[in-house]
Amino acid sequence: MDIAVIGSNMVDLITYIDKMPKKGETREAPNFEMGCGGKGANQAVAAAKMGASVTMLTKVGDDIFADNTIKNLKKYEINTEFVQKVPGVASGAAPIFVDANSENRILIIKGANQYISPEDIDQAAEKLKKCRLLVLQLEIPLPTIYHAIEFGNRHHIPIIFNPAPATKELDFKYISMCDFVVPNEIELEMITGMPVETDKETRNAAFVLLQKGVKNVIVTLGRRGVLWVTSNDIRRFDAYQVKAVDTTGAGDAFIGCFAHSFVRNGNVAQAIQRAQAFAALSVTRKGTQISYPDVKELSAFLE
Ligand code: ADP
Repeated sequence: MDIAVIGSNMVDLITYIDKMPKKGETREAPNFEMGCGGKGANQAVAAAKMGASVTMLTKVGDDIFADNTIKNLKKYEINTEFVQKVPGVASGAAPIFVDANSENRILIIKGANQYISPEDIDQAAEKLKKCRLLVLQLEIPLPTIYHAIEFGNRHHIPIIFNPAPATKELDFKYISMCDFVVPNEIELEMITGMPVETDKETRNAAFVLLQKGVKNVIVTLGRRGVLWVTSNDIRRFDAYQVKAVDTTGAGDAFIGCFAHSFVRNGNVAQAIQRAQAFAALSVTRKGTQISYPDVKELSAFLE
């Protein structure tokens, strides 16, 4: 196994609207789509689409969404032996409202993802300790994430930690144990409490994480690219110029593809370049997982 993702899955319930209904009003919406999402699952799918062998540890609910989520992960040949159903609980869901200007309003119901526990990691330990990289985000309980970080360290497994969605409540004792912390600008601002308006400020905020013990901080800057900061180097990578249609899930695309590339050859700069290409392609299409390219497409783009 190359990569283990311990993280969330969600069902995206995307309603396209002309106008938000007022309180008490019922309006007709032009379109509705369902999609598979959740940061953990998105990152697992991105890595799997690149050819990584991925195991996903997550929980689904006791509803019509559960089997669909498992089926979706299997479609990408992700190992689902540690995807458990929680009786009497709803699956994670994200009602998303997209208006005529493509602006999003998103609600997140964590549902079964909230039941992913440290014990689940212990139960899967024999298998998980064979992975070559552990990928974590923040849509599951913090004690579980901290347990996963300790587990990774104990077994000398490199960890990619994506502090998303943004929160101020992180315990740096654990974050400092991660090899790669990969925030976007908002997340970096939240976890460090420092401004990130300018490149200099972003660098200073990244240094705070390095001082705490993180080895690599990779800040994703949307269409401005990526900043990779280590204790002895700062490198800026421009994003690929594409016509963006929908940037939802770009960060997850980046991390999944980065994880795969890094596991394959250990070259961080190369993994960043490849992940940027993968994420750039994903923003040229609507949707999250369904917008992710496959290996062939990515190779053609990079030629
Ligand atoms: P998030 O989705 O977590 O907010 P970002 O918006 O920083 O993450 O995007 C992650 C990566 O996706 C960027 O570093 C970049 O490589 C790529 N990306 C995002 N938006 C664009 C864009 N408009 N054009 C090209 N690449 C993009």
